[in-house]
Amino acid sequence: MIELVELHQSETWFGSHSRLYDSLDSSSVQKGTDSKGKSIMQRAHVHEIGHLLCLGHVDEGKPHCPLANTNSSACYGVSDQDKIL
Ligand SMILES: [Zn+2]
Repeated sequence: MIELVELHQSETWFGSHSRLYDSLDSSSVQKGTDSKGKSIMQRAHVHEIGHLLCLGHVDEGKPHCPLANTNSSACYGVSDQDKIL
């Protein structure tokens, strides 16, 4: 069971994690752009389910992803292919 926080309509960001989602997590949100300027979209609940399956961020273990902070933006991927994961 995963707990859910119902956000007030004035709240736009919560900071969900693998065991606590918010009511906006199933919405598609732009997380960045690729090298051609195309939007990279993400649904947070899908990302967090990956963590429940013990998956890390795509670039964890690579030199540009700091071991002390695997939530650093570099750990989410730097190549177009990795950014969409
Ligand atoms: Zn994550």
